[in-house]
Amino acid sequence: MSDRDLDYLDEIKICPHCKTQLSCCEAPQIHVGDGLGWGSDVLFICLNDYCSLFLKGWEHVGEQYGHHASYRYMELPGSKESNVMMVGNKDAFKGSLVDKEAIRNQNKRYKKEKEAVEELKTCVEKKNLSPVLTLLLDESALKGNKASALEYLIKLNDLSCIDALRNHTFRDGTFEQKINMNIKMMLDANFKKECPYCAEIIKSQAKKCMHCKENL
Ligand SMILES: [Zn+2]
Ligand SMILES: [Zn+2]
Repeated sequence: MSDRDLDYLDEIKICPHCKTQLSCCEAPQIHVGDGLGWGSDVLFICLNDYCSLFLKGWEHVGEQYGHHASYRYMELPGSKESNVMMVGNKDAFKGSLVDKEAIRNQNKRYKKEKEAVEELKTCVEKKNLSPVLTLLLDESALKGNKASALEYLIKLNDLSCIDALRNHTFRDGTFEQKINMNIKMMLDANFKKECPYCAEIIKSQAKKCMHCKENL
């Protein structure tokens, strides 16, 4: 999803055939070979089963093309131009209603990832761990972005990252191993270790944990 204005999701469009509000649906994937695309991720479609266009369409398509299908009224976002979609049954598009909240959240996440990538460039001089953690903990961030965040994690050498990383459930097991290796390297470099009993960070040569008082 590109970074852009999402106001079009709130457009109110009305079907000229039945005066019902059009539904915002995901645009069907079109094969590149077909030479056309909608130029939009969403389409506004009249899903009213009693819409006159849809009711009359069956007969029309049958006569014109000899197959069982009808039309749904459709408009593209930001356009008043009338279009029709051919549908083979009344449930077509009803399963592809756009979840506006989900799209807004995806867009927010994407923006946050982009900002974090930008902030990585100056994170060492600013001692700013935040963009590094944003990328490492974002399960939807690009692999390449997460990999560079991991490099900055080592450069920052800030042990305060450990709690957040330990408390996160990584979906990618290989990535989690890399994180664990990096934590180990950082602890070693700082002559520290994690207490096996309470997980607090303590001196690597400690014989007794200063937090939970366990003997090590
Ligand atoms: Zn209609
Ligand atoms: Zn302890």
